[in-house]
Amino acid sequence: MEIARLQLEGGLDEPDAPHSPTETSVTDKFAFAFDIDGVLIRGGRPIPEAIEAMQVLNGKNDYGLKIPYIFVTNGGGKTEQERCIQLSKQLQIEVSPGQFICGHTPMREMAEIYNTVLVVGGEGEKCRQVAEGYGFKDVVTPGDIIKYNPDTTPFRTLTDEEHANSRTRDFAGVKIEAIFVFADSRDWAGDQQIILDLLMSKGGVVGTRSETLEEGPPVFFSHNDVIWSASHEHVRLGMGALRCSLEAMYKAVTGKELETTAFGKPQIGTFQFATRLLQQWRRDTHGIDAPPETVYFVGDTPESDIRGTNEFNKESNNTWYSILVKTGVYQPGTTPRYVPKITVNNVLDAVNHGIERENQRSQKKLFKEALNFTENRLNGVAIKDDLLTPTPGTHIIQNPVDSL
Ligand SMILES: [Mg+2]
Repeated sequence: MEIARLQLEGGLDEPDAPHSPTETSVTDKFAFAFDIDGVLIRGGRPIPEAIEAMQVLNGKNDYGLKIPYIFVTNGGGKTEQERCIQLSKQLQIEVSPGQFICGHTPMREMAEIYNTVLVVGGEGEKCRQVAEGYGFKDVVTPGDIIKYNPDTTPFRTLTDEEHANSRTRDFAGVKIEAIFVFADSRDWAGDQQIILDLLMSKGGVVGTRSETLEEGPPVFFSHNDVIWSASHEHVRLGMGALRCSLEAMYKAVTGKELETTAFGKPQIGTFQFATRLLQQWRRDTHGIDAPPETVYFVGDTPESDIRGTNEFNKESNNTWYSILVKTGVYQPGTTPRYVPKITVNNVLDAVNHGIERENQRSQKKLFKEALNFTENRLNGVAIKDDLLTPTPGTHIIQNPVDSL
């Protein structure tokens, strides 16, 4: 499992050892990518149809076919490894970091660029650990700054646990080079105060104030979802809402515009990352080298999942086919701002739709070939030997690899 992730990060070469054949049939024609919250999980529990949907992908379907899949979530706040263990339990399958991207995964590439960074959001020290795991060399949290100067946040004092976990440091002269919001803030007021202070500082030096108020470090968010689907009957505010709030607050205080950057869906970079991950995953676990003709992306948020899939489809060499489910953010009866190829009730319907669509496509192809064959015979055209070989309805490779 780990091999896939390491290779994706460019740390390992392709394994030389030959893969042993298994009896499983795996399609090389298509694959699935899933959003998680509102599609597979809601409020920490699996959506009822999600477990069966995974079983269908793993071969429990009319064709006995295994279909490769990955997960692309904007969520975060834990290491990819931890999140995969949790998802494996929830969905009753084995999920590997080699088939998983969360909102902050692409931030690992920034570890080379910035030295001292402020990491915001998530529970306790989790996001500091994630950032350090990505290779960030000097990670500061809002707790560290409050511990250094408790007057920073007049309405927020650290709990005993937070005080113990936060690091003791003299911040005089310490320069924060970038701010990363890794996961949802647990304390909007305190976190925004600290971010705002840094944005108005002289080049990110803690405790200073710029004359122009615009010399602060850049701010990066791991995604831009304003709302998301949790256990409450109505959608809840997400990280995108914090971003809106921060930009509005900066303008109210300074009179100037603030430009921030968001990763995650619908950013094209996230879909490019997903393409690389899927390619690596299919090669390492199934022995498939060529890219799939179609990737079915199943999501519940039109603004991130559907928008990103549709926009990426325009520039990708293969087809990215957007499927919207009704189990999350999208409200049935409303018109989504970004229109999917199809809207279905739940993730199981989405999987079945993809499989049936592929089946129909291959039948159409067969029919066309049969028609050409007949026409050629009627026209007296010499028939090549290879045309006499039947084409299977859905191309199946018989010697797939399962290195997990
Ligand atoms: Mg979602």
